[in-house]
Amino acid sequence: MAHACEYFNRLADSCFRQTVSGVHVLMKALCLLTASLWMLISAASGQIVSRFGTKGYVEHTPGDLPLVLCSPHGGRLKPSDIPNRLYGVTTEDANTQELTRAVAEEIAALGGHRPHVILSHLHRSKLDPNREVHEAAQGNADATKSWEEYHHFIEQACDAEVKRHGMVFLIDMHGQNHPGQRVELGYLHKSEDLSQPLERLNAPDFVAKSSLAHLMRRSNLPYSDLLRGRCSFGALLEARGYHSTPSPRLPVPDQPYFSGGYTVARHCKPPTTGFQLEANRVRLRDTDTHRRRFAQTLAGALEEYLRVHLGIKLK
Ligand SMILES: [Zn+2]
Repeated sequence: MAHACEYFNRLADSCFRQTVSGVHVLMKALCLLTASLWMLISAASGQIVSRFGTKGYVEHTPGDLPLVLCSPHGGRLKPSDIPNRLYGVTTEDANTQELTRAVAEEIAALGGHRPHVILSHLHRSKLDPNREVHEAAQGNADATKSWEEYHHFIEQACDAEVKRHGMVFLIDMHGQNHPGQRVELGYLHKSEDLSQPLERLNAPDFVAKSSLAHLMRRSNLPYSDLLRGRCSFGALLEARGYHSTPSPRLPVPDQPYFSGGYTVARHCKPPTTGFQLEANRVRLRDTDTHRRRFAQTLAGALEEYLRVHLGIKLK
């Protein structure tokens, strides 16, 4: 409960800082009221209580770990008053919302502490939170509001954990349908960038562009080891039976490959760090049993990765 109280106090503080218009007194009161109500409901029920955006299209389930999981493309809602997007990708990442929830449950099972989870419930034909707002919402007011709330929830979760732990790790959860059956890990480097010589991969200006830039500030390892070598997240997944790239087995992804999108580029700046994770469908997210098994694997790999590289304990 102490964790929850502290979190909500910080949430209210965060709202205060971000209200700068003429209505800011009213906004401050509303933010405080909302945060307080959320805290009271949590206290009364003894359970984790999610909060939602204005129309219920965005959900934040609070956590107490410096770990944020977000899922932009797993939503299924298609409200008729939001027109279909006319350009950009409109197909969902099937079952990624369920996978994200399963990962959160498996992490909680390790040691009783939970990551923050932020979900978009709108189908991608209505909103794509992993794009700039003009492409994401294409001018619709409700979609735009949901886009703002989605990223605001991420910012508030990250702010709260940075205040508590000094840093936060973010994973943007997706599903890929490429021919390659592997997990694609995106650190904001294109395939062609990853094929450069080791000296180039380990150069400070290359590392500064990475979504792992903050992690590297705390590491004595060569960046190439963390990106695709023995200490990479890809290596941990490969060791547990899931093909991944970049990894020691496939250090340079064959095409096509998702290198990380808007969410990671926007939010993974020091002291936030993390990556985009694209799970292939078969054996990872196609059935409940497969999702549960893969979620257990991800939780185990994260437990090792975050403990070794950032001193974050999930157990
Ligand atoms: Zn996606």
